[in-house]
Amino acid sequence: MEKEELFKRVKECPVCGSTERKLLYPSNINNFDSEDFKITDSHYGKHWQMYRCENCSFVYSDPIPSKKLLEKIYSSIEDPDYDIEEEGRKNNFIRILKRIKEIKNEGRLLDIGAATGIFMKLAKDEGFEVTGIEPSTWAAKRAGEKYGLKIENTTFEKFESEGGFDIITMLDLIEHVENPVEILQKANSLLKKSGLLVIVTPEIDSLLRKLTGSKWWHFRPPHLNFFNKKSIRYALNREGFEVMRIKPYHWKFSLYYLISRFTIGRKICDKIDIFKKALKFLKIKLFLFDSVEVYARKKDN
Ligand SMILES: [Zn+2]
Repeated sequence: MEKEELFKRVKECPVCGSTERKLLYPSNINNFDSEDFKITDSHYGKHWQMYRCENCSFVYSDPIPSKKLLEKIYSSIEDPDYDIEEEGRKNNFIRILKRIKEIKNEGRLLDIGAATGIFMKLAKDEGFEVTGIEPSTWAAKRAGEKYGLKIENTTFEKFESEGGFDIITMLDLIEHVENPVEILQKANSLLKKSGLLVIVTPEIDSLLRKLTGSKWWHFRPPHLNFFNKKSIRYALNREGFEVMRIKPYHWKFSLYYLISRFTIGRKICDKIDIFKKALKFLKIKLFLFDSVEVYARKKDN
């Protein structure tokens, strides 16, 4: 790939179009490879050159990895560590499904960035008619092997469908894409009247981010864009959605998962098996409140 195909300049805010911006952080990523883009990657505190829009407060990367480069990276990703924490992820997803069911109890659900299909499987078991999209060939195949799910192995940009979905979910997806507004527009066009959109994404103005500054654990090479409560509301409203609910998102993970995020912790765990087993058994709830869970309805018009 030519160098100019790898990165794209972003001179105006992708959400509101304003050119008024402030440099938040210069880039500290010198080189990277597809390993850095795994979900379970632990290179925390790594970010691209980030700007904050002075109009809508959206935080975006400039330059940003191009769609072409992202597609190349994500299609080839293999992330066996993702399944280690299947139980923990299930807990998080069950909570989200419960809230979805309070709003829409049945119908066609599209999960964008379905990974190995954990959420899709849970939704299917709850009676939803599920479709999933996942660019990683490895993950899509894994979903088939594990749960017999058929996931469309493509990007959302390339996904072709007549639409008519009742629910679209984007769990930890929108911070990974080159242009979040295009994603919202496409989601809107695929939803039925009054369809439900569910987004989970890191929150740039959360207390934890303020405390940890540029070392925040959501600053990682795959995270390109960051919303706060104000900018996500603004973006959704502008793209034809009415925000119903925004709430902080908490995680439930095993202590093993947390400790193994750090190289030294992982080395110790892998040496002492009993220690590893004990830590896997210990589930902890992390009330970091540095992600948001957003429920929005497609406006009728
Ligand atoms: Zn803006």
